[in-house]
Amino acid sequence: MSNIETIVIVGAGQAGASAILELRGNKYEGKIILVGDETHLPYERPPLSKDVILKPAETKIEILSEQKLAELGVEVIRGNGVVKINPEQHHVELKNGDVIAYDKLLIATGGAARRLPNFDALGKHVYTLRNLEDSQALVPVLQPGRRLILIGGGVIGLELASSARFKECEVTVIEMGPMVMGRTSPAILSQFLLEQHRAKGVDVRLSTSIANCRLDGEEVVVTLATGEELRADAVVYGIGIVPNVQLAVDAGLDVDVAIKVNDNCQTSNPDIYAAGDVATQLRDCGNHRRVETWENANLQAGIFARHIMGVEHPTPNPAWFWTDQLDLNFQFVGDMTAQTWEIRGEMDAAKGADNSFVMFGVTGGIIVGGITVNAAKEMRHLKKLISKNAPFEADKYLDLSQDLRKLVK
Ligand code: FAD
Ligand code: NAP
Repeated sequence: MSNIETIVIVGAGQAGASAILELRGNKYEGKIILVGDETHLPYERPPLSKDVILKPAETKIEILSEQKLAELGVEVIRGNGVVKINPEQHHVELKNGDVIAYDKLLIATGGAARRLPNFDALGKHVYTLRNLEDSQALVPVLQPGRRLILIGGGVIGLELASSARFKECEVTVIEMGPMVMGRTSPAILSQFLLEQHRAKGVDVRLSTSIANCRLDGEEVVVTLATGEELRADAVVYGIGIVPNVQLAVDAGLDVDVAIKVNDNCQTSNPDIYAAGDVATQLRDCGNHRRVETWENANLQAGIFARHIMGVEHPTPNPAWFWTDQLDLNFQFVGDMTAQTWEIRGEMDAAKGADNSFVMFGVTGGIIVGGITVNAAKEMRHLKKLISKNAPFEADKYLDLSQDLRKLVK
């Protein structure tokens, strides 16, 4: 039993919704008030760059329905965000002036698309992608034959490139760095991704800077640093996020780029927690790290709820995320900065690859990371090997005649 009467959750997204399920799952019986600035009930963001664009009519993204929230006894406030946290008085102020008292507060406000003001200034034909409305706005844009420029070769850029090719758009990706998905993928897989996109007709420009942009009638003209001009019907940029930390900064919490939290997801104020994209957590390496994934939002929401209820945290699995691009499902687990990558299967199309393989990331002889490409069923074995600090044995793990499931026991 907890004697906490009221928990307020700011942000009705992935971490906010997950925190509700975790609190009730861990037998919290007090009041929960969920405050969201969006008008929607909590929904999943991963489909926004994929199925919401490709199959809008059949894609369901809601995490918690009105009925479920009522069953869970949650008071929901929508379209009326928190504008101020007052830690001394233990209350938050909403946009409409209402004041809500809390005993414990969870900040789960996520992040916003990092802006490119010179593109925003064009006023039309320029898009970003973070919420449902952004995704819905792209549906009429991604039509056959339309020319699309995607700025940023990260996950948003590549997932949208994939969706746009499925919609038969002409697609150019402009990436400043030398690799696609450079922040989240090892070089060898980044090269594979690049080849896959180019083979499907995506014009990917690496190490490319933009000098200027302007409108010419209904066309967007993007001038590269080389002087080359590209013309498009629309531009979407995905150049990372800025965590929504202003409330925390104004409340005097310890914030760097994101809100600093300890192992229990507590901020520098013990009655205020943070989880998801807005939180940066102290890790084993002794540094704070922010992880912008669906799994991390759920994991940190669980840590928050268990700490509230005095329940011990289980050892977390190594960090995992996925991306779906073209006809490929990629899953990543553990350390993507491993010293070497060993491949089980064939990734080279010239050698008859069928685009299904497994990669082992190895540092100092130990398996520290793993990637599956169209081989999702092998992921749980990789997770186990990493959790066990298993030594890498090439003769076993790279031999396709051996069943990974049996080797992992
Ligand atoms: P969010 O889900 O963004 O929720 C934050 C909520 O807080 C929002 O509703 C926001 O409007 C609200 N809010 C902000 N300020 C206030 C305020 N002051 N008052 C009240 N409410 C406020 N991850 C993967 O692992 N795999 C994927 O395939 C994948 N695909 C993605 C595709 C897209 C297009 C996007 C945008 C993200 C994707 N992600 C993916 C990342 C994943 O969705 C995020 O990491 C996750 O949503 C983070 O959850 P969160 O609760 O921290 O933030
Ligand atoms: P991201 O993955 O950080 O990628 C942004 C990319 O844009 C980076 O490669 C970055 O290069 C590049 N870039 C930065 N400034 C640029 C500029 N001026 N011109 C050209 N390129 C530039 O961020 P994102 O793709 O925008 O995604 C936003 C958020 O959505 C993230 O939180 C992400 O995790 C989430 N998301 C996740 C998934 C998934 O996990 N499957 C899918 C979609 C979205 P540098 O690294 O060199 O700066």
